[in-house]
Amino acid sequence: MFETLLAGIRSIHDHVDGQIPLHAPWFDADDEAAVVECVRSSFVSSVGPEIVAFERDLCERTGCSAAVAVVNGTAALHTALLMADVGTNDLVITQALTFIATCNAIRYTGAQPVFIDVDADTLGLSPEAVKRWLEEQCEMHDGKCRHRDTGRWVKACIPMHTFGMVMRITELLNLCEEWRITVIEDAAEALGSSRNGRHAGTFAPIGTLSFNGNKVITCGGGGAVLFKSIELAAQAKHLTTQAKVPHPWSFAHDRTGYNYRMPNLNAALARSQLRKLDHNLAAKRELHHRYSHLLASTPWTLVGDPSGTISNHWLNAILFRDREERDAFLEAANNVGIQCRPAWELATDLPMYQQALQAPLPMSRSIQDRLVNIPSSAHP
Ligand SMILES: *Cc1c(COP(=O)(O)O)cnc(C)c1O
Repeated sequence: MFETLLAGIRSIHDHVDGQIPLHAPWFDADDEAAVVECVRSSFVSSVGPEIVAFERDLCERTGCSAAVAVVNGTAALHTALLMADVGTNDLVITQALTFIATCNAIRYTGAQPVFIDVDADTLGLSPEAVKRWLEEQCEMHDGKCRHRDTGRWVKACIPMHTFGMVMRITELLNLCEEWRITVIEDAAEALGSSRNGRHAGTFAPIGTLSFNGNKVITCGGGGAVLFKSIELAAQAKHLTTQAKVPHPWSFAHDRTGYNYRMPNLNAALARSQLRKLDHNLAAKRELHHRYSHLLASTPWTLVGDPSGTISNHWLNAILFRDREERDAFLEAANNVGIQCRPAWELATDLPMYQQALQAPLPMSRSIQDRLVNIPSSAHP
């Protein structure tokens, strides 16, 4: 049943010997030189010129006002939530179809996630579904949004730009402004993606990125928090630097801080990788075109660019007609060395989040049942 499709995928990656990985990082001699030079400078840890320079490079590339580089994308989300003043017993709206980091970061603050459905085209949080939940379950009280049954405050909302597709962020921002809810964009998968010319993660007051090994560019492990407010970014820098009071020799701290700073060594590699982002994006766009051609005359759909957006095509995805067909494809592909995987299990199906508040999730469930990510390296 899948012979032609599998042969097509194999031929697109015909320069790969053996297993075709889902997503492999790509390094060149410049990356190696950047790391070696940083090691020789001896500034490999949490202080150094590469960190400051990388934060500046990120501002330039994304158009944000200020960026704070951190150890990974999960720490970036945690920091973002703390800067949005999210704490114990608050509620944070997010999507059930997301990587676990989004949900875990909410829990780190002592808050509880509320899981809402995604849109069919972007696979990101649905503004209409959020609106419905707010209107049915919440009320404004003292100028803040309160969940009626639990009496908890709905403090923040984290949409995720799934597989690099930018969700309908403007509609969501307008809605959340009405309800006085802070939006944090989880743009971990969306470096290089944009909607109407604006970079993912820079629409809301706070956005987050990841530079993990499987992302569009990587520095081993790393993340960043993007801000509109320079003042808020300075506070985030302080919080992720153990809340150390700046002083030439004295060692004092003014709150419970975190050791979340990105080391200079990672920043050196991150800067070098960022210079190759456009190169990677072009290669990924080409790969997406080839997949789109391959899928054109089949009963299956390649997940594409939602209108008004440019996706980085981080991970390509096929939608099958039902779960049985998906499982048969996963089995067949992995058996012939084509590394493929299903979408994440819905958070609401995992033991830690089964009891969480949730709205109906028909689209999330349908996507989870039918989607498969296929090999998507920029330069295999
Ligand atoms: C990768 C990713 C993160 C962050 O991951 P780290 O491995 O901690 O850098 C967060 N959210 C989503 C949706 C991701 O895909």
